[in-house]
Amino acid sequence: MRVAIIGAGPAGLLVGSALAGRGHDVLAVDRDAGPPRQGRWARRGVMQFHHAHGFRPQVGQVLQEEWPAAFAAWLTLGAEPISFDIPGLGQVPGGHRSRRDTFERALRATSDDVSGLSVQQAHVDGLLSSGGRVRGVIVDGSRLEADLVVDASGRSGRAVNDLRAPSTVGGLCGMAYVDRQYRLLDGAEPGPMTNPLAWQADFDGYQAIIFLHERGHFSVLLVRPTADAALKDLRHPAAFEAACRAIPGLAEWTDPARALPVTEVLPGGPLRNAYRGQEGIDERSVVPGLVSVGDAVATTTPTFGRGLATTFVQVRELLALLDSEADPGLVGEPFDAWCQDNMLPWVLDHVHMDGDLVRRWRGGDLDLTRRLPSDLILSAATEDPRIGHASPGYLSMLELPSSLDAVEPLARAVYASGWRPEYSSGPTRNELVEIIDAALRERGVDTPRLNSQSVSSARR
Ligand SMILES: Cc1cc2nc3c(=O)[nH]c(=O)nc-3n(C[C@H](O)[C@H](O)[C@H](O)COP(=O)(O)OP(=O)(O)OC[C@H]3O[C@@H](n4cnc5c(N)ncnc54)[C@H](O)[C@@H]3O)c2cc1C
Repeated sequence: MRVAIIGAGPAGLLVGSALAGRGHDVLAVDRDAGPPRQGRWARRGVMQFHHAHGFRPQVGQVLQEEWPAAFAAWLTLGAEPISFDIPGLGQVPGGHRSRRDTFERALRATSDDVSGLSVQQAHVDGLLSSGGRVRGVIVDGSRLEADLVVDASGRSGRAVNDLRAPSTVGGLCGMAYVDRQYRLLDGAEPGPMTNPLAWQADFDGYQAIIFLHERGHFSVLLVRPTADAALKDLRHPAAFEAACRAIPGLAEWTDPARALPVTEVLPGGPLRNAYRGQEGIDERSVVPGLVSVGDAVATTTPTFGRGLATTFVQVRELLALLDSEADPGLVGEPFDAWCQDNMLPWVLDHVHMDGDLVRRWRGGDLDLTRRLPSDLILSAATEDPRIGHASPGYLSMLELPSSLDAVEPLARAVYASGWRPEYSSGPTRNELVEIIDAALRERGVDTPRLNSQSVSSARR
């Protein structure tokens, strides 16, 4: 079978290598040139590329199953396996520490040696179709015929929009990242961790997270409401560094005696949750000859680090279906049914959690008139340990968010008693804005917001 793949990101390359390994003739097309021999990989089509990534166990597991050479290359480049000690279960796999750049370099380098897989730098303009079936892709204006087109074009891919119905679930989640990568100095110990993957602190209008990567690299991440213009100024190095000094855990991690920055401060675009089924635009039935996978199906806010896990378990399922389907072009329909059952719940979980968190960041109390969002159910485990006992399946993504339904009433009872989770120690949102403003003024940085403040005080 001739397979054309739109996108050579993690989903496209994993599907491509696995199908080539099954004897198919595969071409993956990506507008990105791939990693340069030396220096920074710009990776313009993937805005999150240099942002903090954590890798859940599913990523390494599926890679080992379907593409062991890429898994070995990832470890060679430095990916570090981690494990959790779960009472009663002992050590369980916790995923891998790595930068996204390191991960994708391993996939790209290994793809060069996969017989039957070619990766071409070009732009997919659209789909070829006739007789109600997709027959290939248009690549930089030229026709490329294929028996199956795999859309692995990510969260903002548009190449299939003429035939595939738009996303109807989710939307902007009201949060954005600003982060920066650092590296521990030789011999320096890592700072504090709240779990083997990360350190996290929650405040009244923002979050701070450290993601530890491989070989002493780590990302310092501040998550802010997109509507909070003052916190947007964290994108200025002076403000970001002042925030790091003021937030106790970050101060320990970023102490110049412990670590130095290795990137600029990286402001991220707005984050979104989205679920997009396989339905066609016209008759709403799945289009034969086309299947979408990865972020092109399910995108979730990254603070729980779920995107690559949902991407790779989708790929595992898609390959299993393709192995059993007599006409591979018809795989979209059973895959859609599986995604509805297994992916949509994660997107809905995030829509609920994020919407509620942003509302609480604006000063709202939690809402006991509807099911509590999953993060609040988990927080109540400090007061009722039965909640914690029910949470490993959800936390590890081996069980769907509905696995928390049974303990939701227990959490509700905790909150009904008046208990609320405490904020972490560190500046409140308003104190953080004062810290940002002082740092910007001290370094003479003008921002539109500070300018408008000085203009209005001059007028008074
Ligand atoms: C800020 C942020 C942080 C994240 N952090 C985490 C994390 O900690 N852990 C985690 O597991 N996940 C995380 N994610 C999610 C993760 O990055 C995605 O799940 C992952 O990138 C999905 O892989 P993909 O291959 O489906 O899509 P992508 O990685 O987006 O790849 C799509 C590819 O398709 C190409 N493409 C698109 N359209 C065309 C076209 N028309 N022609 C040619 N090429 C095209 C693009 O250039 C790109 O290379 C994060 C996401 C964001 C936004």
